[in-house]
Amino acid sequence: MTIDVKAIRNDFPILERKVYGKPLVYFDNAATTQKPRCVVDAIAEEYYSVNANVHRGVHFLSQQATSLHEASREATRKFINARTTNEIIFTRGTTESINLLASVFAQSRLRQGDEVIVSVMEHHSNIVPWQLQAQRYGFVLKVIPINDQGELLLDEYRKLFTPHTKLVAVTHVSNVLGTINPVSELISIAHAHEVPVLVDGAQSVPHQPVDVQDLDVDFFAFSAHKMYGPTGVGVLYGKERWLDALPPYQGGGEMISHVSFEKTTFNELPFKFEAGTPDYIGTNALACAIQYLLHIGMDSIAAYEHQLTAYATERLLDIEGLRLFGTSQQKGSVLSFQVGNIHHFDLGTLLDRMGIAVRTGHHCAQPLMARLGIEGTVRASFSFYNTTDEVDALAAAIRRIARMF
Ligand code: PMP
Repeated sequence: MTIDVKAIRNDFPILERKVYGKPLVYFDNAATTQKPRCVVDAIAEEYYSVNANVHRGVHFLSQQATSLHEASREATRKFINARTTNEIIFTRGTTESINLLASVFAQSRLRQGDEVIVSVMEHHSNIVPWQLQAQRYGFVLKVIPINDQGELLLDEYRKLFTPHTKLVAVTHVSNVLGTINPVSELISIAHAHEVPVLVDGAQSVPHQPVDVQDLDVDFFAFSAHKMYGPTGVGVLYGKERWLDALPPYQGGGEMISHVSFEKTTFNELPFKFEAGTPDYIGTNALACAIQYLLHIGMDSIAAYEHQLTAYATERLLDIEGLRLFGTSQQKGSVLSFQVGNIHHFDLGTLLDRMGIAVRTGHHCAQPLMARLGIEGTVRASFSFYNTTDEVDALAAAIRRIARMF
């Protein structure tokens, strides 16, 4: 394995703690990742020694806070290889990024009879914002189906396009099945119909290198807290020509150029979409998380997590009665499963008592659960700080619980 996990674990104080007297095994990384010391320290240090509201401030602290905030925008741009910082909109997270886009895209471009394509494996965050706008503007959602391995059916996808198709909104990596979708291919098919694409990158950005120019994606959303950064910060990437053409989202400070009661003009990108005081402490902490990830290396992270997930898959499939959901060829570090007739909630609760944190339930993907014909799963999701020993502990704990039933 290519990375020094022992050294990395020392950067995450929480991994040393015990729960119910047992060493913590944290396998809920798809919900949120733990934070390295440098990210937490950056938050404290900025509050202690820099804090001031950003932009327009003449005083020293305000200028320093603004520099840090804008340096984070540049670090984020570089991390996903956007062309310019005008294409990096700071939001509260993936959910807000998608709501922002759904709101402004629908307002300006979607009407009765139009169609937006999503997939059956979407997180509710990439379904409900579109449904809310659909109720308002009268467009419809069309759904890309999957096969039993949890892979999108590309032939069916191609058939969904009509002259009324206005947007494709699809996840990069499924938070339930772990499927890594062939987004380059999905995008080029959509572009052949002159349809733009939003990719939900919440589960891809923390685990693999992402290059938005290489993907040629039009919009891309992700959350800082799933990539070792703080809660409350996210990003909407959009191609500049798209963002320029779309109307503002919320109104308030920052997003205006000039306000009078007769007429208000709006600020230029990226500020047009950033009403109000941004979470500038959080954006600086995101820059620290990015720096941390780059220090380990995204290729090394992807390789390590791939090996760990392959190891875990093998160990879990060895357990009698264990059923894995999501067996796609291209798979990220997420394993969803059920064991015999044990209810997922009971399994998750008992694992917790043994110190192992997993997630149970529908994982905010109820349409996918309906497609799979189940109510929920147990989900173990891995990070580069997890180890094969922890995977062994999970497998042993599941066996113990299975014997109890
Ligand atoms: N999309 C996917 C694929 C996710 O896994 C999640 C988080 N579980 C979200 C969107 C929503 O992210 P957030 O809650 O950070 O806005």
